[in-house]
Amino acid sequence: SLTIGIVGLPNVGKSTLFNALTKNDVLAANYPFATIEPNVGVVGVPDPRLHKLAEIFGSQKLLPATVDFVDIAGIVRGASEGEGLGNKFLANIRESDAICQVIRAFKDENVVHVDGKVSPKDDIETINTELILADLQSVEKQIPRLQKESRLQKEKVAVLAVVEEAQKIMEAGQTLFAAGITADTEKGRLLHELHLLTTKPFLYVFNVDEDELVDEDFKNEQRALVAPAEAIFLNAKIESELIELDDDEALELLQSMGQEEPGLATLGRVGFDILGLQTYLTAGPKETRAWTIKKGATAPEAAGVIHTDFQKGFIKAEIISYEDLIETGSVAEARAKGKARMEGKDYVMQDGDVVEFRFNV
Ligand code: GDP
Repeated sequence: SLTIGIVGLPNVGKSTLFNALTKNDVLAANYPFATIEPNVGVVGVPDPRLHKLAEIFGSQKLLPATVDFVDIAGIVRGASEGEGLGNKFLANIRESDAICQVIRAFKDENVVHVDGKVSPKDDIETINTELILADLQSVEKQIPRLQKESRLQKEKVAVLAVVEEAQKIMEAGQTLFAAGITADTEKGRLLHELHLLTTKPFLYVFNVDEDELVDEDFKNEQRALVAPAEAIFLNAKIESELIELDDDEALELLQSMGQEEPGLATLGRVGFDILGLQTYLTAGPKETRAWTIKKGATAPEAAGVIHTDFQKGFIKAEIISYEDLIETGSVAEARAKGKARMEGKDYVMQDGDVVEFRFNV
């Protein structure tokens, strides 16, 4: 499955956040037999629709989609020079599908900042610089080879052009993601063979003091710093307290801070989205469940997420949109009112599709 790597300077709250991620019980509760690596934290993707469906179907279990976060330990400055930990650090990021940088914004004299002052802007630059330097090295290594190959292989001409463009962007200090060159773009595809770091989607978590959680001016400033990447604001210490509370207490604490949901929930939702994922839903008396697919997946591909046999023997999918199901109140009523659609193998799954697959075994 896809993963998001958590990076950041020392002492910004990565471990605090990661501990909260590993202790949140979405996996333990829903997948008791799942084994997870110690450096992986799994967070649920909040979806109120699941609760509504579970009510209608009287489901015993409710299984949200999840996102895996990987704790990428290791120093950062000088990583691109490729010494020991630095190499491992970069290799771990290379394996991640998105990058989540934790940034310190909280002020606390008792917690030392590695650079002596709290400055989100400088911290972001420090990390970006390492990632950009690593990518520039990859690019510089590949250019001579691509120059040679492009004389004989026409298709390499376009690759070389994009690689040279990427080099210019990064020499100017910008990540490829910030310049709009991501894996799902034409240019990103041409760069694929270079396994670059900064084409990955970025997400920024600002570890803030409580008063900053509701300071819209402050938040807008930080958002501007990281755009077009997403910014999430949370207090890692409070997150680690929230997961210890029962739902009512947690809600009360959140409301007292002017928050609608825990930061971890926001992190799950935004992380899921930047990975280019979406869900479809199944519901029944046993369980109501959100299944994870890539945006743009077809009905047989979606069926394959449940079981490869479902994909192989796919006949059709009976689909009711979540809204129609809620409005009609049951599958039988939805069918009677013509709201249940039979879709074939070319159907592209839509957000909120409640599905039952028909297949041959
Ligand atoms: P890491 O080095 O990035 O993994 O940072 P840690 O999670 O170990 O946190 C470093 C120190 O900062 C620890 O003493 C934490 O208790 C403290 N810390 C983490 N998050 C917060 C926060 O939101 N507010 C305050 N005041 N301290 C925090």
